Amino acid sequence: MKITYPYVGNSHIVIKNLLERFGNEVVVPPKPSKRTLSYGTQFAPEFACVPFKILLGTYIEALEMGADTIVSTGGVGPCRAGLYTTLQEEILKDLGYDFQMITLEPPGHYLKDLIAQIKKLINRKMSIREFWSIIRFVWEQLKLFDETELMSFKIRPLEIKKGETTRVYREMVDLIASAQTVKELREIRHEVNKRFENIEIKENYDPIKVGIVGEVYVVLEPFANLEIEETLGELGVYVERSMFLTHYTINNAVTDLFHIKGEKNVKKAAVPYFNEMCGGHGRESVGHTILYAKKGFDGVIHLSPFTCIPEIVAKSILPAVSKDYNISVLSISLDEQTGKAGLRTRLEAFVDLLDKKRQKFKERMA
Ligand code: SF4
Repeated sequence: MKITYPYVGNSHIVIKNLLERFGNEVVVPPKPSKRTLSYGTQFAPEFACVPFKILLGTYIEALEMGADTIVSTGGVGPCRAGLYTTLQEEILKDLGYDFQMITLEPPGHYLKDLIAQIKKLINRKMSIREFWSIIRFVWEQLKLFDETELMSFKIRPLEIKKGETTRVYREMVDLIASAQTVKELREIRHEVNKRFENIEIKENYDPIKVGIVGEVYVVLEPFANLEIEETLGELGVYVERSMFLTHYTINNAVTDLFHIKGEKNVKKAAVPYFNEMCGGHGRESVGHTILYAKKGFDGVIHLSPFTCIPEIVAKSILPAVSKDYNISVLSISLDEQTGKAGLRTRLEAFVDLLDKKRQKFKERMA
């Protein structure tokens, strides 16, 4: 069995480790590129959202590299993500690819089915203890990736030498990827802290603060959001993201397993505007925007894939939130036509607006 899977942020490194330690041959999906998206766009239904297209293109590339099994996550709607794997399997089989699709459904809804699917991914003998030690290692690795990314968000707007944070960040990603044990990860954590501390930064600079909310795939995958966090950091903006891979895993898989609501504070904040679950992360986009306003952020950027229903609903509500909480919101709809240069121009204008708004506020307070 040669397994492949979707590419999202740094998770491809962690998933590779997990699947290899479970005794599988792994075909690491290539980093999404224009070619990936053009494959996806060519074979996906016209109305499909951009995450669907990128994943479809990724699978085509991985199948061409020799994969014969795809493992991906399912869902329970109402957003169409729950039907992704079924539809993608049909499209790929129509194109003549011979493979099996393994869909990991949410544990709280299909626990038995999930266990059966996970068993298919364990292809060597191992004790329960070994199983948990593998899970512990990959979890620690995922946590360190998230911590490193968070550090880069804090330092990038302050760096004196442009591009240094991104260079250090990329080096640290490679270092974390090379770890083989939890002990090594502990040592690498020290190195990560040291390397970021050594970046020369501006003193007495209070950056504009922007929160990023929106649909999970376009928030987490830099190719899908055209590396928006890097661009904002280079413009001197401190970015905080509403979602990280570890946080996503806890708030979806773990809370679903125990039938408890994840992100209660976020959902509670959204209630006056958005009281129904409509799938995806539409409600969370509204809730997080309110929480960023309460934390004193200057603005929020709302990322949504073109045709994504949950985020279309959120987008229609956000102007009211923006007015009530006096926070500027920029909604960006992403599809295969969106270009990096055009996005940068919009971001520059938004940051300029936030800066002016802050100056005016200071003048009024003086
Ligand atoms: S949340 Fe939106 S973009 Fe994500 S799968 Fe659902 S419809 Fe597509």
